[in-house]
Amino acid sequence: MTFPVVGMVGGGQLARMTHEAAIPLGIRFKLLSNSPQESAAQVVNDVVVGDHRDLPTLRAFARECDVITFDHEHVPTEHLRALEADGVLVRPGPDALVHAQDKGLMRARLDEIGVPAPRHRILTDPADAAAFAEEGEGFPVVLKTVRGGYDGKGVWVVRSVEEAAEPFKAGVPVLAEEKVDFARELAANVVRSPHGQAVAYPVVESIQVDGVCDTVIAPAPGLPEELSLQAQRTALTIARELGVVGHLAVELFETRDGRLLVNELAMRPHNSGHWTQDGAVTSQFANHLRAVLDLPLGDPRPRSPWTVMANVLGGDYPDMYPAYLHCMARDPGLKIHMYGKDVKPGRKVGHVNTYGEDLAEVRERARHAAGYLRGTITE
Ligand code: ADP
Repeated sequence: MTFPVVGMVGGGQLARMTHEAAIPLGIRFKLLSNSPQESAAQVVNDVVVGDHRDLPTLRAFARECDVITFDHEHVPTEHLRALEADGVLVRPGPDALVHAQDKGLMRARLDEIGVPAPRHRILTDPADAAAFAEEGEGFPVVLKTVRGGYDGKGVWVVRSVEEAAEPFKAGVPVLAEEKVDFARELAANVVRSPHGQAVAYPVVESIQVDGVCDTVIAPAPGLPEELSLQAQRTALTIARELGVVGHLAVELFETRDGRLLVNELAMRPHNSGHWTQDGAVTSQFANHLRAVLDLPLGDPRPRSPWTVMANVLGGDYPDMYPAYLHCMARDPGLKIHMYGKDVKPGRKVGHVNTYGEDLAEVRERARHAAGYLRGTITE
């Protein structure tokens, strides 16, 4: 059998949805998950339960895969280098992935490439935050731990040197950034293969609530074509310069005076690309698989004028299934994607996609369904 085995490290919903994309292609999918209960481990039939921080576990897993890829960025860089030295195909490779693991290295590298970013500096001591603030507009400034943050955890908006003490407690370097007064947040998603082929999805608007992605609108409404092309070019340049293989999400701030600043990179399928499952010719998950296997990439173009993705967060009701009756009856065009995760307040447990011709209507349908599933909308 020549159909390859793709090994994905990490058992979250991104692995679950990548597995879903592997099925119609007949690509065999193997999972390394921390526990059998995780989102992807519930549905993949070939699961190794083990710790992604343990090199012998990773080595044994990789031996049974043709290529390994990731659902998160938490595998230690030195382990990835050891796997590469063993001859394992690691995609994206450690030299690229390190820029999605360490915000300090990411900033330094993007500066070299000349990609516009918020003013920033690595701080060694909370007292340095005052000097950093004074060189700009003063407090508040944004402090971030360089490693280990996600969904806004590991990001602090600080108003004084006293408040700056907290981020240093994690014992990793702290990146200071000017607090950007952005008009909105965008994401430019691209996929690149080892051959160097690359595709760019339409640039999307991403709306965060309490540091967590709430809604994604594809394409970003009212974005001037010039900025859209600039965002796509920036993402393609980053993918090429960093040698990214697979899906790359570039999170951007659109400033009030029409500039784009890069905030963050993710080198895996990303929440800002979930709309592609139902709204693009080829989803981010299918294209990530094609890229890591060095297959020709699929068409990234939208299938509909507008697609809206709304995350379903956990609310007060532990069981969302009864809500399907009303959601499905109300909106036969609704696309529901649930992750099999236990409902905890505020936790991402699924998302919905809607698409159509009229943005206001498409957006309202997504908002309603996500709120109804959560339990914050009751009719
Ligand atoms: P994470 O790795 O946890 O996703 P991010 O660096 O993406 O962290 O920051 C999370 C959110 O915090 C961003 O989506 C944005 O809303 C806000 N944020 C981050 N950096 C800045 C900044 N320099 N200025 C203003 N807001 C910021």
